[in-house]
Amino acid sequence: MPETPEQLYERAKNALRMPPVEEWETFPFDGDLRPRQLEPPTDADRPRLGVGGVDCRRCAASDDDFLWTNERWRVHALGPTGLPLVAMLEPREHFAEPGDLPEELAAECGVLLGRIERAARSIGEIGRVHVCRWGDGGEHLHWWFMARPARIPQLIGSFAAIWDDILPPLPEEIWRENLAAVKAALEE
Ligand SMILES: [Zn+2]
Repeated sequence: MPETPEQLYERAKNALRMPPVEEWETFPFDGDLRPRQLEPPTDADRPRLGVGGVDCRRCAASDDDFLWTNERWRVHALGPTGLPLVAMLEPREHFAEPGDLPEELAAECGVLLGRIERAARSIGEIGRVHVCRWGDGGEHLHWWFMARPARIPQLIGSFAAIWDDILPPLPEEIWRENLAAVKAALEE
């Protein structure tokens, strides 16, 4: 039997821990911190944007809004971002979860995750390209690519996603050059 959200809440609400963030080089914030109070479970998860493809902005987006497209996939770049590149891979067709993809599309997805990761590295001065999937905002399946700069130890690891909002946005010209490098690598 899995633990229910109600059971988890009762067990955890008075037992929250404060990790030693002051010892974490990558933690982006300073000062006294404490965990937020845990709120009780709701009756249901909040519906995501574009549920079932209805009013889905990702389905409706024009190819012009994408950095690269093919018959079944599209790559969208956000920004200018704080990190050198933040981009998303999406199937053209509306799928919600990675496990919902038919096997043929799932196989293509695997190949593309590698190609886009490699293309992002081709920008230069990239320490790592994080490839992630969060799915709690929009329902339309999307994979994140977050390229972090090389040689800045504080920017490693999962906090890179937060540092992206802390670092000032890239100058427009550099951002466009980065996108052009990724596009060229994808079209090779
Ligand atoms: Zn959609």
